[in-house]
Amino acid sequence: MAKATAANKTNASELAFEIRESAIAGKGAFALRPIKKGERLIEYTGERIPHPVADERYDDDTMEEHHTFLFTVSSRTVIDASHGGNESRFINHSCDPNCESEIEGGRVYIFALRDIKQGEELAYDYAYERSGDETEKEEMQYRCRCGAANCRGSIMEPMADFLKRKRAIARKKAAARAEKAKKTTRKKSAAKKSSAKKSAVKKSPAKKSSAKKSAAPPKKKSSTKQSRAKKKSRR
Ligand SMILES: [Zn+2]
Repeated sequence: MAKATAANKTNASELAFEIRESAIAGKGAFALRPIKKGERLIEYTGERIPHPVADERYDDDTMEEHHTFLFTVSSRTVIDASHGGNESRFINHSCDPNCESEIEGGRVYIFALRDIKQGEELAYDYAYERSGDETEKEEMQYRCRCGAANCRGSIMEPMADFLKRKRAIARKKAAARAEKAKKTTRKKSAAKKSSAKKSAVKKSPAKKSSAKKSAAPPKKKSSTKQSRAKKKSRR
């Protein structure tokens, strides 16, 4: 993959932004010129690895603060920008972002969400997927100090988004169960018709869908989620 990584590297001189110290956190990306809404600024590059490998590489428990260069592309793939990543990995999170991330054909790009003035810091909403059982320590690790007027205090997704997703998953499960029950009923009545014998259809529990990192990234704009695994500080 070394070849692909090298090809993905963006020439720094072509970038619409530069990397320097940020008031938000560590380093940040700052517009070198006015940027138009919708402009594609950079691809989020790095080594493409499966989730288990990312989980092995980065240990939640040993970190004081979140520092991640991981980006979830799909239920299978994570991009680790600490291996072959480019300047995109320095773009900070904001609860009032001027950029957004989008996945196109399995690749991740950062776009301008609105017109951006020269000198403005670029940021997008990381919105890490919650699992719903975050500990106080984790809440601390993911606390946000972006300084936006509407800062939600966390770089994790808003609780409302999590609850919405949870409800959607529950609905899907219920629908699957209902579908299964319908089929069972149909089978039963078919069996009754074809013979006098009573058919005992075994009930099998609905297949459990794993809650962890199972959802493919939603198609919706601005809802691209970053992996919650993270990198130790090196900023
Ligand atoms: Zn914030």
